[in-house]
Amino acid sequence: MKKTCICPECKNQIDLSRYPDIKEGLVIECNFCGITLEVTDIVGENIVTEIVDEGK
Ligand SMILES: [Zn+2]
Repeated sequence: MKKTCICPECKNQIDLSRYPDIKEGLVIECNFCGITLEVTDIVGENIVTEIVDEGK
């Protein structure tokens, strides 16, 4: 099943083809705006993410 993930920041669909093993805790990067996201849940084919705050 092909999973999809919409970036919470720019609302684009993130390309997940470079993440073959998606699971909770995986950190992914939006290929549109460059934001870093952590997978918090997977509901069916929808991946739920949370923005990782890298600010110092
Ligand atoms: Zn984005």
